[in-house]
Amino acid sequence: MMGMLTGKKAFVFGVLNEYSIGWHIAEELHKAGCELGFSYLPGEKIERRVVKAVEPFNPKFLAPCDVSKDADITSAFQRAGEAFGTFDILVHSLAFAPADALHSPFLQTSREAWKTALDISAYSLLALAREAQNLMNPNGSIITMSYFGAEKFIPMYNVMAVAKAALECTVRYLAAEMGRAEKHIRVNAISAGAVKTMAARGIGDIDKMMLHYTEKSPLPWHAENAATHVGKTALYLCSDLASGVTGETIYVDGGYNIVGW
Ligand code: NAD
Repeated sequence: MMGMLTGKKAFVFGVLNEYSIGWHIAEELHKAGCELGFSYLPGEKIERRVVKAVEPFNPKFLAPCDVSKDADITSAFQRAGEAFGTFDILVHSLAFAPADALHSPFLQTSREAWKTALDISAYSLLALAREAQNLMNPNGSIITMSYFGAEKFIPMYNVMAVAKAALECTVRYLAAEMGRAEKHIRVNAISAGAVKTMAARGIGDIDKMMLHYTEKSPLPWHAENAATHVGKTALYLCSDLASGVTGETIYVDGGYNIVGW
């Protein structure tokens, strides 16, 4: 896919380390010739990890941003504007829910945990899209990451499932509004199968989950290839090949979601 995104620029939110789905998306975009800038959650340890992880992509900038803070979002896009002028692609690959809410019965979910999970994991897409639209070029692409728990019961996914359902709905509303606006920006979600990342470890037994995917998915799905599959679909959605696709949630899970038994 070399050269597919030559001359394009992407702002990527949600790389923590080389295992992050955001990292694998960045890898595919980089291979296709896209210039990249990144955000990271403020914190000395995290910054060091992210700087090291994104080094191979020759980043144009790194902007601290806690997406629960409006001021951080504003300054991150100011940084993107200074470094890029305008850009073409926004990658939203982040989520958070308090650990308690993931390890207690769903009925015990507190109002605070609900607000935090939906704020960071779903509202942030809207907040980033709003800032991004001013700097994005016509026919740009926004992508976000969802999970099957938005649709079906998954043990321990709890309030994160509610956040993903809100995220997928947000994708449709943003897609309708932004597609009809002057710049015709596309907005899509990828619903990924299990990938061994920090966030996944926070939810449950990722090894057990991965085994389940390996056994049940029609296509081979395992730790070594999972994130790469996601990165490739991200490349498609960010490229002109997906010029007629918006508001969709595309499953990239080896077909796991179509199997009933
Ligand atoms: P990850 O831990 O590598 O990435 C999560 C990112 O979210 C990190 O970069 C972290 O810094 C960021 N983040 C958390 N709170 C933030 C905040 N307040 N402000 C800014 N950034 C914040 O894990 P991942 O699995 O790569 O997660 C990326 C996305 O993929 C998430 O939306 C996740 O729900 C989704 N997803 C993951 C899987 C999986 O199996 N790993 C499956 C489907 C969907």
